Amino acid sequence: MSGSLISSDIDFSAQGKHTGYLRLPHSVHRSAYGRILMPIVMLSNGDGPTTLLMAGNHGDEYEGQIALGKLSRELEANDIRGRLLILPMANFPAAQAGTRTSPLDDGNLNRAFPGEAHGTPTQMIAHYIEAELLPMCDYFFDFHSGGSSLYYPPTLLRGLGHSPEESAKLVDLQTAFDAPYAWIFTSGGGRNSTARTAMGGGNRKGAITLMAELGGGGAVSPEILALTERGIKRLLHATGMLPAYVPDAPNGTRELTITDSVIAYDNGLFEPYHDVQDEVKKGDTAGAIHLPETPWRTPVTLHFQHDGMVLCKRVPGLVERGDCLFQVGSDL
Ligand SMILES: [Zn+2]
Repeated sequence: MSGSLISSDIDFSAQGKHTGYLRLPHSVHRSAYGRILMPIVMLSNGDGPTTLLMAGNHGDEYEGQIALGKLSRELEANDIRGRLLILPMANFPAAQAGTRTSPLDDGNLNRAFPGEAHGTPTQMIAHYIEAELLPMCDYFFDFHSGGSSLYYPPTLLRGLGHSPEESAKLVDLQTAFDAPYAWIFTSGGGRNSTARTAMGGGNRKGAITLMAELGGGGAVSPEILALTERGIKRLLHATGMLPAYVPDAPNGTRELTITDSVIAYDNGLFEPYHDVQDEVKKGDTAGAIHLPETPWRTPVTLHFQHDGMVLCKRVPGLVERGDCLFQVGSDL
């Protein structure tokens, strides 16, 4: 036992389709014996791998939450080979509030791994995922977006793998997911990962782990949602867990690694000169920060430091010193 205080309605050794809640004890003024009830779905059917599909790690990232809800309603145990776990609102208090971090403890779940069994709610959730769920898993797929403050075109995120078999599998799954872009992490990962992310947890527990960034800006794009739903079924088919699904031909994925982050050094209103998917050159002007309280002052211009493609942009126009405005990816 991991010492977690979170209990599950679902017996993970059972067969069939099961829905229920992870129950996190949360004793507060208005509810002395209260619990946070986090929805979880399991479909189990005989031999095959175990896969955890997760969304709502950040509560203001929606495509994954909607796609996993649809999958939970659509799939029956007979459709599956192996065991599929679906956790659509991983940081439940944050997902309920539509915020990146939890309103209960300000916790950012994707910076809380490996978590603490007796910590704050966010730390307890991280601990449960890493200590209870991930050790069961052969595959772990965590669906994000840019949230309220960032926007990404559909982008798969993966490491390079720590064995030839793992590397080959990661490439297979990337091809299967068929996002237009992949962001490749060229260092870190593996069993000795010290990352505080869910991906770090997946790597520490030996699960083949992928993340995805799917839009953002606090909104849901029908196009990206459709790509997400298609991608998830293609991933499950590629793991052998959804044998009857027939994938169409992939469109192909461009592999990038992040080489530049444009950061604000001033407070003001940001005028971007570029959008995501633009090709930029070192020295190009990224945009200007306007200073509306002294409108006669010349705006501050910012420049790209590397050639590449704009993979991520800030959404809100109001910026503060330290905000990330753009990320640029260069071909691997
Ligand atoms: Zn996220």
